[in-house]
Amino acid sequence: MTTFSDLGLAEPLVQAVTDLGFTEATPVQAKAIPELLEGGRDMLALAQTGTGKTAAFGLPMLHHLVDAGGNKKPKGLILSPTRELCVQITGEMEKYAAHMPQIRIMAAYGGSSVRDQIQSLKRGVDIVVATPGRLKDLIARRAMDLSQVETVVLDESDEMLNMGFLDDVREILGQVREDSATWLFSATLPREIERIIKDFMENPLKVMISGRNEATTSVEHKLFVTHRDRRYAGLRRLLDSAPGFYGMIFCPTRVETRELSEQLIGDGYTSAALHGELSQQQRDLVMHAFRNKQIRYLVCTDVAARGIDVQDITHVVHFRMPKDKEVYTHRSGRTGRAGKVGESWALLTPTESRKINILERQIGRKIPQHDFPSRQDVVTGQLINFADRVVKQDKGKEVIAPFIETVVPMFKSLKKAEIIEHFLSAEFETLFRHYAEHTDLDLNAPAQGGRKDRPDRGERGERGNHSRGGREDEQRFWINLGEKAGFSWPLLKDFVRESAGLGDFDVQGVNVAPAHGYFTVPKTAVDKIKEEIEGAKWEGIEIKLDAVEHHVGRESRDRDGGNRNRRGGGYRGGNRSGGGGNRGGSGGYRGGGGNRGGGGGYRGGGGGGGYRGGGGSSRY
Ligand code: ADP
Ligand code: MG
Repeated sequence: MTTFSDLGLAEPLVQAVTDLGFTEATPVQAKAIPELLEGGRDMLALAQTGTGKTAAFGLPMLHHLVDAGGNKKPKGLILSPTRELCVQITGEMEKYAAHMPQIRIMAAYGGSSVRDQIQSLKRGVDIVVATPGRLKDLIARRAMDLSQVETVVLDESDEMLNMGFLDDVREILGQVREDSATWLFSATLPREIERIIKDFMENPLKVMISGRNEATTSVEHKLFVTHRDRRYAGLRRLLDSAPGFYGMIFCPTRVETRELSEQLIGDGYTSAALHGELSQQQRDLVMHAFRNKQIRYLVCTDVAARGIDVQDITHVVHFRMPKDKEVYTHRSGRTGRAGKVGESWALLTPTESRKINILERQIGRKIPQHDFPSRQDVVTGQLINFADRVVKQDKGKEVIAPFIETVVPMFKSLKKAEIIEHFLSAEFETLFRHYAEHTDLDLNAPAQGGRKDRPDRGERGERGNHSRGGREDEQRFWINLGEKAGFSWPLLKDFVRESAGLGDFDVQGVNVAPAHGYFTVPKTAVDKIKEEIEGAKWEGIEIKLDAVEHHVGRESRDRDGGNRNRRGGGYRGGNRSGGGGNRGGSGGYRGGGGNRGGGGGYRGGGGGGGYRGGGGSSRY
């Protein structure tokens, strides 16, 4: 074990990391820091996400400024691919510099005020953390002077490459002094990065940390197997079994990320999606809400979540298992940080689970299969968690005090046990109902056909009779708008609803395939649909409609080559309960507002949807 004072860091830095609760240096820190303290050398350090690379370069950079802070022109430059990471690195650096009051660190990224940054630079800055684009801008405006820069860090270099910043990086490196040191940190080493090394670095020191030595060893890996059409139901079961859940749920594609998040929001979870289609501002909104824990279920793609570090993640969920061991390890490494135990859950179908040993061999560990928690356990767990919180609640009594006199007499006719019972059912009725009627997840339960194959809609059943042959009073339509035209099911649903001026729950059974979609409306709406939608234009496409029979098999073949009964379930299936289910009217993804527009919105704790609408309580 290597402590930070062993590494030879200056006292204020040792103090700062001690304050942060870092007791032991991670492998990349233990190797890189002593070398970088020597000074003057270039470095190439490879270690995967979550291994503490920021401190590995940040502490030595600050160490060299211990007696040299308060500069007019920056001495340290850290380049990072995204605004998100800029903010994160700056925050981290500020913590390391907590006992170095003379040090000024500035973040510079697109979207923030250039004028403020120019002002700060005029007053003097020691370290600039920047995206390449904004830095170039500041150089062009002559606000940023690179002449005093002694160290340049390229953080998350491979991501910089992915985002197309390498030319900018080259340009910037070409402008710093020849004798400055370049420290390149990356998770992987693509060829283009090697070329940068060749062109701009001199005989660099090399630190390579293989995946196994990562800092994150306290992750418990679990595998859950259920049928394909119950993946979403399985996810819910798992989420409901963990009342303190605060985590990331990984999906492979943008579309799936968005849809899963919408589905979760519809079912009352404080969820949001993070994927590549979001604007920087939308990303910021989502990440801000996630860091604040207003959102506890962040659904994301691997690319969008890259490099993002959030404290205290309790769970990582592989809604779909990645093929690649690196991706699996990256994902799982988000949890189990800083001495806490985290859990990594993977949801697999029986077919997928047969291939798991390939991944297991690659990552060098077995991922044990677990049974889903029983409904009984989930409900009991929620109750105990709630009761425990109530019993321990000692905040806020003074706020409640003025109302006690009014409210307490209302309970006069009830005995203590009854009061508890009433509170619990008021709080948990929807949960109880959900689990009283909920589909079985066990593999040996009979495969479900027809109506029951919709894991999350049978629970209320109001619309159940609609699923098979269709109802007399409804009409199903084919439409020539699909994923290629930018539609997902919620978007198509809203499009139809809004174009024809229909009510919230009039459009049902929305399915979206690459080139077309389907939806069902009440017969009374058929005329309006034809008038308003048929022949209208959508981004230059003339909209075509076709009244079709309700038919389970055909649509799914259209989309999935016939192997997958899409109508039968998955989370798309679940949505078709529309306004039913436990969405409780005003909740649902609609509550998210901007969410459909690309993920900016999210549902706070307080919406009208079911048992989770606990007013932002910490229970979920
Ligand atoms: P990377 O850049 O390699 O992905 P980060 O620098 O973002 O990793 O660090 C991941 C997390 O680990 C951060 O929250 C950081 O505060 C924490 N961390 C870094 N070094 C240590 C350490 N030595 N002990 C405990 N936690 C650490
Ligand atoms: Mg990093």
